[in-house]
Amino acid sequence: MNVEVLTIGTELLLGYTVDTNAAELGRALAAAGAEIVRRTTVADRPEPIRASVAEALNRTGFVITTGGLGPTRDDMTKTVVAELFGRRLVLDERLLASIQARFDRMGRPMPAVNRTQAEVPEGAVILSNPRGTAPGLWVEDARGVVVLLPGVPREMRGLLVDEVLPRIVTRQGSARRVVRSRTLRTTGVSESALAERVGPIEPEIAPLTLAYLPSVDGVDLRVTAWGLEPTDAEARLGVVVERLKAAVGEHTYGEDDADLAAVLLEALRRQRHRLGVAESCTGGMIGERITNVPGASDTFIGGVVAYADVIKTAALKVPLETLEAYGAVSEETVRAMAEGAQRLFSADCTIAVTGIAGPGGGTPEKPVGTVWLAARVHTSTRALRRVLPGDRDDVRRRAAQAGLDLLRRLLAET
Ligand code: ATP
Ligand code: MG
Repeated sequence: MNVEVLTIGTELLLGYTVDTNAAELGRALAAAGAEIVRRTTVADRPEPIRASVAEALNRTGFVITTGGLGPTRDDMTKTVVAELFGRRLVLDERLLASIQARFDRMGRPMPAVNRTQAEVPEGAVILSNPRGTAPGLWVEDARGVVVLLPGVPREMRGLLVDEVLPRIVTRQGSARRVVRSRTLRTTGVSESALAERVGPIEPEIAPLTLAYLPSVDGVDLRVTAWGLEPTDAEARLGVVVERLKAAVGEHTYGEDDADLAAVLLEALRRQRHRLGVAESCTGGMIGERITNVPGASDTFIGGVVAYADVIKTAALKVPLETLEAYGAVSEETVRAMAEGAQRLFSADCTIAVTGIAGPGGGTPEKPVGTVWLAARVHTSTRALRRVLPGDRDDVRRRAAQAGLDLLRRLLAET
């Protein structure tokens, strides 16, 4: 089943808003068995909207639009599509009542313009939108289908999942063929080292395909099944992911959108360990990653940003002699930071990071990107030196990820 996507919004063309709706529609529709054959973006003006919808309807017969459904003057998608289908706009009393109720719940009077949101093209299916005032609309005749969704990403997503995808699945019946992916997340291992481990099983993966996707978080391995019947796709993906996991071993920390900080917290919680951190070049990023995870408070005690040497000595009790003899970016210092944080927070486990994020400050022995990391579990410390690539932001983000990963690996072994 072929589909076209039309995202509407002048702000999308100007680049002030990134078109995340099109990307989300792409993934979700492929997984549901609809193939996106073309994607278009137009301004909030009636002529380009009319022309694009009409062309897509003639060409493909199934169009999903996002944006321009609100009550403001620049929101004209509904009017244009009604005209295109030769339908009048009629007031839907139930819709009006639900929009009114929404304003009542918020304790605000309903502006008159919101009344227009209760007008729908005659005969359209109303897709109810509990997250906003503008409902989605499904308009259909012999020429095909136009589905109108709101622009606000959260509302678009809700309507897509609750109302649109189920209808698309039903429409295709037993002929449905889908594109499905699963992702194995790895970190602390280079793409080429990963390829050495995974290479031998790659020929057995076909017709599924494998992609290596490097980022500052690490390298994701994405396996994709193309054009298969859904249960067949899931079964094959399951087999391949298990084989990949076995090949990748300790380098993988989770699947799909797994977050390393959440994975680490879970491991700490299982062992009833409490965590403290000491950060220099990451300036609190590790603490930020950890506290971003809901429920972190039962496991995370706190962190120190020990940027200046005086804080390393005063708060973390790193001996002045250590700093003078080896420098702030050294194995000796990072080990002392990990021990100091453990005392300071009475923590079972700690992570410490110190490094040169650049762009200045590098030397031939310690080039920009040099980072010393330490993880400590009870009385045992593991320290690791990495020279991380990229600009200042990359080095800091990679260092935070590497710090979390060092403790994850140490915990897995103890
Ligand atoms: P509203 O009822 O809020 O007016 P709407 O259906 O009229 O919703 P728009 O006015 O086009 O939608 O957009 C609402 C918000 O959603 C804007 O902040 C816009 O930047 C954002 N948005 C619109 N289209 C997209 C898109 N394709 N991707 C990401 N964000 C989008
Ligand atoms: Mg709007």
